[in-house]
Amino acid sequence: MKTVSLIIPCFNESDSLKQTYQAISDVSQRSTDFSHEIIFVDDGSQDNTFSIIYDIAAADSRVKYITFTRNFGKEAAMLAGLKNASGDAVIIMDADLQHPPHLILDMLEAYKDGFHQVVAKRTRTNEKPLRKWMTMFYYKLINKLIDVELVDGIGDFRLLSRQAVNTLLSMPEYNRFSKGLFSWIGYEKKVIEYENQERVAGSSKWGFGKLLNYAIDGIISFNSKPLRLLIYMGIIITLLNMLYIGVSFVQILLFGIDVPGYFTLISSVLFLGGVQLISIGILGEYVGRIFYEVKRRPEYVIYHTNVKPDPTQTSRH
Ligand code: UDP
Ligand code: MG
Repeated sequence: MKTVSLIIPCFNESDSLKQTYQAISDVSQRSTDFSHEIIFVDDGSQDNTFSIIYDIAAADSRVKYITFTRNFGKEAAMLAGLKNASGDAVIIMDADLQHPPHLILDMLEAYKDGFHQVVAKRTRTNEKPLRKWMTMFYYKLINKLIDVELVDGIGDFRLLSRQAVNTLLSMPEYNRFSKGLFSWIGYEKKVIEYENQERVAGSSKWGFGKLLNYAIDGIISFNSKPLRLLIYMGIIITLLNMLYIGVSFVQILLFGIDVPGYFTLISSVLFLGGVQLISIGILGEYVGRIFYEVKRRPEYVIYHTNVKPDPTQTSRH
């Protein structure tokens, strides 16, 4: 019998965990071809998430847990889950039941048909127009800027075969942007659609600031096109400047010095200042990332776990 590992990253999910566990294990037990294990990764929750997980694990030997010493982020939590999963297939799911558990069975069916990645796609029929518009804009922009393709509604909820998991784990980068990595590794994907669900309890951990940072991460951790863009911008601005200088020079020769040039002067200074700041910022981002990659720090630090063999304290492979 094949096994499937269900990886659930949890950050302050005490209100929904029991319900999530119940729903997931009910569905998983319905599968006759797969046995399952559930790996809860407690990403440094400040509420009693861990004690709930601990109780669940004490009562059900199929439940594994990994807790972190602090909040390392969902990317780190997913990575810890993937590294410690023993299944022939792995499914990553959120802890708030926004990822409908019944899809597990559909995913396993597709896995049996030979797919190495089965992705769930959220459709948005009940979302506010502004939000829809913003997401559309985000995906348009990001797909222009990066080499791999990202699709709206396709997130981390997916099944990966053992082979796909091993491919992912062979990528030792520190700044992980999973949406991009999932796409980068390739493999033929099967897409299963589902209607967007509300969280059962608690609140989303994504504010506007976090989303903006995520967008920047997505663009910058995937290639260096923004740097190329800067060069183009620089060339265009320099050419325009040369044109302006040439025209002004001829004007001065013909008509004498033009006194009210204050506006043009200040506007070009401000504009160039802005462009330079953006450029330096982007360069800084790349340099910063190199700095983190070079340090080769672990992506997370494990506090407790019942996964055997006990992984070493650090996660670097
Ligand atoms: N999560 C995590 N670490 C974090 C933030 C979130 O492990 O720092 C988990 C969270 O517990 C949930 C999943 O990631 O299981 C998705 O988070 P959330 O529901 O807040 O995101 P949304 O569904 O709003 O995109
Ligand atoms: Mg959620």
